[in-house]
Amino acid sequence: MKIVLATSNKGKVKEILELLGNDSVIPYTDLLDEFEIVEDGNTFQENALIKARAVYNVLNDESAIVIADDSGISVDVLGGAPGIYSARYGGQNASAQDNLVTLMNAIKACAVGSSKAHYTAAIAIVSREGERCVHGWMYGKALTVPKGQNGFGYDPMFIPDGFTQTLGELPNEVKKGLSHRSKALNLAKILIDQIKEQRIYAGSAATK
Ligand code: IMP
Repeated sequence: MKIVLATSNKGKVKEILELLGNDSVIPYTDLLDEFEIVEDGNTFQENALIKARAVYNVLNDESAIVIADDSGISVDVLGGAPGIYSARYGGQNASAQDNLVTLMNAIKACAVGSSKAHYTAAIAIVSREGERCVHGWMYGKALTVPKGQNGFGYDPMFIPDGFTQTLGELPNEVKKGLSHRSKALNLAKILIDQIKEQRIYAGSAATK
């Protein structure tokens, strides 16, 4: 049974492989040429399902379980922006650094030095058993000055609740323990185990 990850974002691949166990999960780009997936959903959930479904259909492997993450940061002072547009907040081909600078400037333009913010992760699971989706959130504060180099994306400007340092400064192990993605993946693991059990049960019932 293959668990295939429908993302080519290096930061996410690294975190998801660490959290789910490197041996059991294969990024789809190890099996297929990378292809463009149009994420035109209106929610994190819709976009995660679009990605997982697209890879499941192209893989054409009945035994595969495909998982996809759609995630982003929402800043209170910006009315929840960039939200589902986090990956392209600085423009269509913006780098992670461009996105970070654009977001810090948008917060500064509201004449504040920081704002409450949160990350959301939706993890979709598509297999022959059907489609499911789970979520995780991490709450904290978005700054207008980046600090540290750890993590990826907006991490240097985000301080999780209960901490005084950004995710750019905190060790990766700390992020692992509290991130939106870890919380969603812990739920996803439960659903993946249920699918595995269902298949074992169906297999043993068929041989009776
Ligand atoms: P997408 O889910 O591939 O559409 O992109 C989500 C975007 O949100 C990423 O490109 C990052 O900019 C941002 N993002 C999501 N999760 C994290 C995180 O854990 N740390 C920093 N940035 C993140």
